Amino acid sequence: MAKYIYYFGGKQTEGKAEMKQLLGGKGANLAEMANLNVPVPPGFTITTEACEQYYKMGEKKLFATIKTDVEKNLRKVEKQTGKTFGKGPNPLLVSVRSGAAQSMPGMMDTVLNLGLNQKTVQAMIKLTDNERFVLDSYRRFIQMFGDVVMGIPYEKFEHVLSTVKKARKLKTDNQMNVADLKKVISKYKTVYKNATKKNFPEDPMNQLWAAIAAVFGSWNNPRAIRYREMNEIRGLLGTAVNVQTMVFGNSGDKSATGVAFTRDPSTGEHKYFYGEYLINAQGEDVVAGIRTPQQITVKGSREWAKNQGISEAVRKRDFPSLEENMPKCFKTLDKTRVKLEKHYKDMQDMEFTIENGDLYMLQTRTGKRTAAAHVKIAVDMLREKLINEKTALKRVPPQALDQLLHPVFDTASEKKVKAVTKGLPASPGAATGRVVFNAEVAEKWAGKGEPVILTRIETSPEDIGGMDAAKGILTARGGMTSHAAVVARGMGKCCVAGCGDIDINYKQKKFSCNGKTVKEGDWVSLNGTTGQVYPSRIKTVEPQLTGPFKVIMDMADKYRKLGVRTNADTPKDAAVAVKFGAQGIGLCRTEHMFFEGNRIVSFRKLILVAEEVKNLRKQLETADKREKPKIEAKLKGPEKYYNEALKELLPLQRKDFTGIFKALKGKPCTIRLLDPPLHEFLPHDSKGQAQMAKNLGVKPSRVKAVVNSLHEFNPMLGHRGCRLGTTYPEITEMQVRAIAEAACTVSGSKPEIMIPLVGNVKELSMQKEITKAVIAEVAKKKKKNLNIKIGTMIEVPRAAVTADEIAKEAEFFSFGTNDLTQMGCGFSRDDAGKFLNEYVEKGIYEYDPFQVLDQEGVGRLLTTAVKLGRKTRKNIKLGICGEHGGEPQSVAFCDKAGLDYVSCSPFRVPIARLAAAQAAV
Ligand code: PEP
Ligand code: MG
Repeated sequence: MAKYIYYFGGKQTEGKAEMKQLLGGKGANLAEMANLNVPVPPGFTITTEACEQYYKMGEKKLFATIKTDVEKNLRKVEKQTGKTFGKGPNPLLVSVRSGAAQSMPGMMDTVLNLGLNQKTVQAMIKLTDNERFVLDSYRRFIQMFGDVVMGIPYEKFEHVLSTVKKARKLKTDNQMNVADLKKVISKYKTVYKNATKKNFPEDPMNQLWAAIAAVFGSWNNPRAIRYREMNEIRGLLGTAVNVQTMVFGNSGDKSATGVAFTRDPSTGEHKYFYGEYLINAQGEDVVAGIRTPQQITVKGSREWAKNQGISEAVRKRDFPSLEENMPKCFKTLDKTRVKLEKHYKDMQDMEFTIENGDLYMLQTRTGKRTAAAHVKIAVDMLREKLINEKTALKRVPPQALDQLLHPVFDTASEKKVKAVTKGLPASPGAATGRVVFNAEVAEKWAGKGEPVILTRIETSPEDIGGMDAAKGILTARGGMTSHAAVVARGMGKCCVAGCGDIDINYKQKKFSCNGKTVKEGDWVSLNGTTGQVYPSRIKTVEPQLTGPFKVIMDMADKYRKLGVRTNADTPKDAAVAVKFGAQGIGLCRTEHMFFEGNRIVSFRKLILVAEEVKNLRKQLETADKREKPKIEAKLKGPEKYYNEALKELLPLQRKDFTGIFKALKGKPCTIRLLDPPLHEFLPHDSKGQAQMAKNLGVKPSRVKAVVNSLHEFNPMLGHRGCRLGTTYPEITEMQVRAIAEAACTVSGSKPEIMIPLVGNVKELSMQKEITKAVIAEVAKKKKKNLNIKIGTMIEVPRAAVTADEIAKEAEFFSFGTNDLTQMGCGFSRDDAGKFLNEYVEKGIYEYDPFQVLDQEGVGRLLTTAVKLGRKTRKNIKLGICGEHGGEPQSVAFCDKAGLDYVSCSPFRVPIARLAAAQAAV
């Protein structure tokens, strides 16, 4: 039989850190800490394989299978702690916690204080001589068990609590006395009975099994499923269950509970020991943000007080640090911090509890952090020789860099406006948007393209969708480790938390703050780095790309094999991309150049007569002597118009290319000739058509007729790409002339001409012939030596499988994986979005193939083309310019496939550089 249970605690520990898949992160690290001699309350982990069996064989069968082992391990815990489960004089109470191989904070269930019943409550009172504490633990247990295990709405318990407190005019839970707590317990039990039609369970074994079942069950609750989807957590067996001896942070003023980080998860700094604690509190109190937590170190505490505008005297009196309050425990905790970070060689996020002056570690795990912290910690640890260069590179998730590339507030503009209040700088960056007060509204507004700031008293896991949709998050309550803060940092989203001045009225959809009222829809701006909240919109600026960011990027360049280019079609984008480290342009889409300003008028002029010119020319070819003059006369007008349009476009295009070549300063530039169907350049509504007719001096009916004649049922497979150049070689000629002439004016420029949508080598040969002739003509005229490479995109499956033929003509291939996916998988780029999500949910495709390259299918077309292409032309240059060129997994695939470079949008260039380095090391 499989081993479903692993013990942890002192020398009897069975697990270790490497067993994360089986024991979950929490279980594996508890075992590892026990192995390291760190004080861990003993317990046992029921494996993720058991969770898998819970769903496969069902609860009854699984529980029958593990019953004896659970009991055996409980006895072991009893023996080690000297306590007994369900009995006095020293009753063993346990926590039952979830813990999957990848952390999913707050998504699954936890039950604390399990084992309390009327008998053990009495024994505990006798033992501790602290009735208040025992009753408080009991009421917490009933509440948690009722909510988590039995699904009784949390508010029902909250209502009881606030009624009792209100009646006695109490502000906090801590102020309740024994009589209050007895009242709460009795009322809680009524709530429980009304909801479940049963009495609150007295038998601790029954409590335990129900809690285990609840934790396994929570693996598939909707918010856990959503969290896994959002964070792309796949392939896990389930959650483990950790049953662990309770230690009490709420057993008096010598007890406390807290969360700490070995380095600052927000900035990566390690000027001091970062963390928060609460005296006389239990487990989730710190994270729940109900009371204001205190800092671990004096340094941290002083900085916090300064941020909050609290005087040193008040700080010392009301919010002293752990270092001041419990120096002995602080020392042990600080030693543990050093030990754990050295052991794991990464920033740790730890939970601890102090029970009557004794410190226990309840958890350690690799700490979640912002992108800035990722980069800084990796670089610092490298300098500290804790890790080597390759590990440092692997530590930074490429996608996270995105957070560092986006704008922050323009300092001058931020100075001009007055902050209405200041909260905790929970997750850095800047956000501007309209205030909304609930997650659903946030999702709805964001869906319509509105930037929103989700503003809540505090957030909970139910808000996750709205938090994802929002530009920033603002909360009135909670500390640096509150739900809002932790989740926002994980998402890389700006967050200001614990803004106590804000008084939110959900019903009236407004908040007031220091005399100002902000309603739903009003603009606010958040500075997640300082905690400032502004009641207005603020200008933003580009970020700095220096310091640790530069160190990582330089190191990435040292290790990567793949080149990284960019997809850009304006000098501005090209300049941004070069700043981000692009080594050239891999795709310049020239169609964008036909839309701007007046040039659309000239291009429409061309389209208006293009078909007519084409047809008449064709007729001329076969006409006899008698017909010829007539056709020539007919052709004269439209042809003049056609040539005029080309003449107008030529200098505009030349100017565009000149600008781009200058911005590139000698870096290569792959220019793709016109690609989209002509229909896309025409107005489709009658108003637009009337305007076009007016601009061109023709009747609206003529415009309408052209629009109708160019209509296609499936334009993506229609008259586009090189098919346009085949029909209208003059367009190819004009574009090539513009490129060649621009190249003559900007010295050192390196254009490469790329023919799109080739499926048959003959399409390429024809376009190449035209292209070469124009280049030769310009070179001769300008007396320049033009060395312009001519290649093609591989985006039609036929081109991929005949790449050996295509390579006879092409000096380079650039994989257009957008179209290659469209045609390879047969998914319309425009319509497949409607059902692809379902395909991913059902596991038909692991990812949306337009976002992450479908390696098995489209990837095979790509590798086939690489092989065939190289067979014909050994040194053929190979790149990718579809959206996948900036997606880390796809970049890794391209590295393995042996491409020379990837090309992606400017903001993804650093991501691609790092992904390429990670693929190479
Ligand atoms: C492609 O098809 O992958 C490509 C880069 O071209 P476009 O997206 O412009 O069709
Ligand atoms: Mg394409």
